[in-house]
Amino acid sequence: MNTLMDELENIVGKNGVLLGEDVAQRSVDWFTKAPCEAMAIIRPQSTEQLSQVMAACHAAKQPVVTHGGLTGVVHGAVASPNELVVSLELMNRIEEVDATGSTMQVQAGVTLQRVQEAAEEIDLQFPLDLGARGSCTIGGNIATNAGGIRVIRYGMMRQQVLGLEAVLSDGTVVSSMNTMLKNNAGFDLKQLFIGSEGTLGIVTRAVLRLAPKMPSEQTALVAVPSFDALTRLLQLASKELANSLSAFEALWNNHYALMTSAATKHAEILAGDSPFYAIIETLGANEAQDAEAFAAMLEKALEEELITDAVLANSSTQRQGIWDIREDIETLVYALNPMFSFDISLPIVHMDEYVTTLEEKLKAKWPETGQMVVFGHLGDGNLHIMITVRDPSPHSRHEVEEQVYGTLSTYRGSISAEHGVGLEKRDYLSLSRSPEEIALMKRMKLALDPKGLLNPGKVLS
Ligand code: FAD
Repeated sequence: MNTLMDELENIVGKNGVLLGEDVAQRSVDWFTKAPCEAMAIIRPQSTEQLSQVMAACHAAKQPVVTHGGLTGVVHGAVASPNELVVSLELMNRIEEVDATGSTMQVQAGVTLQRVQEAAEEIDLQFPLDLGARGSCTIGGNIATNAGGIRVIRYGMMRQQVLGLEAVLSDGTVVSSMNTMLKNNAGFDLKQLFIGSEGTLGIVTRAVLRLAPKMPSEQTALVAVPSFDALTRLLQLASKELANSLSAFEALWNNHYALMTSAATKHAEILAGDSPFYAIIETLGANEAQDAEAFAAMLEKALEEELITDAVLANSSTQRQGIWDIREDIETLVYALNPMFSFDISLPIVHMDEYVTTLEEKLKAKWPETGQMVVFGHLGDGNLHIMITVRDPSPHSRHEVEEQVYGTLSTYRGSISAEHGVGLEKRDYLSLSRSPEEIALMKRMKLALDPKGLLNPGKVLS
């Protein structure tokens, strides 16, 4: 009698199955580099193959975890020894680019960066952007509803997807490859899969929405004297730069000081004694006009004492130097290791109080070892908080989580702004979702995946 593995090898071929060392050398945790423990990695080359793989797994009641580029940061891709991994890495083709309709049809395993580059080739852009662009995949971006640095202008991944195709746990292919901006014919089924972290279906293809390429890019790093000034600066930039404001990233002093310290390779572009810093970016159509408007906004900010200093990038190298301070997460992780990472959102009006309260609590509990670094997408109400107490144990993690999420619940914030829930935040879901919401999520899971085979235990318990 054929075993399931024989059956799967027949479907995807010998090259489509990875075992042993080839499995273990994949890390399922971007921070700790923990090895993959799955029994095998199955690599289909087409939707048809994946559909057959899932039909066979369904018949055998075999649980499956989907892998994209493995840059997710909430343990969503963790697989146990009794689980199989389905990797989309061989499904990485850009199938069609429509310059007139401003759409691109891709397989889910293509990286974000390749999509961005392909859009640029036809003088358009794919506006989703984040530090892991070279490795993360469109399927992973869809599954986590990724955000990134340009949400303030273009929205999250959900806003970039016109259509998609997914394979359900029993192998059924649901094709919603819509290419139109408007389509109200019944339920918008693609939304089920966007942000559901591989628990409802495996995304195989997508129709992406492209935007006009903006030839002019202005970037500045500014020093900001207070949180109040930071929020007023955001308001000023939003108003004065109107539709061209594409990023507004805030860095607390603890982040900037660490990233420009001797321990890292980044230049201290501005003096390191300011309480806050911001990276402001615009994307526009007219270089001369945009530069003028940007400089005028900075001047106004100086006059109103919202900033104390500023550096306007005048070359792509300078621009990259500014963004590296924000995007070089690897250096940050290395400097704080062992650390715990958080991605929360809350109303801007409560942000300063929340951070100050949390910092006080950490200092009180871990006076010697506690260290916290804060940065994030201020315009989206989204903060990334990295905390170390110099102890990686699960007990310490739990204690830190209680502080971060416990304090957050007072302000009705969200335990996950853009990274998803995965395994890491599952037990805290009820702090951000009502019992009725969670019950409905469970009913949807049961309807689409009655045997509970897709990404078991992630998001929902
Ligand atoms: P993976 O890590 O492989 O998977 C992530 C989850 O999606 C898992 O649950 C997996 O099972 C599921 N999944 C993957 N592919 C599919 C598929 N085809 N169908 C169904 N389920 C699937 N996120 C942000 O939102 N904003 C940021 O600014 C940001 N910056 C980052 C910077 C760095 C340096 C890093 C390492 C990560 C960052 N992230 C950010 C995290 C973000 O979630 C991922 O980078 C990305 O969206 C995940 O894509 P991936 O292909 O690596 O997915």
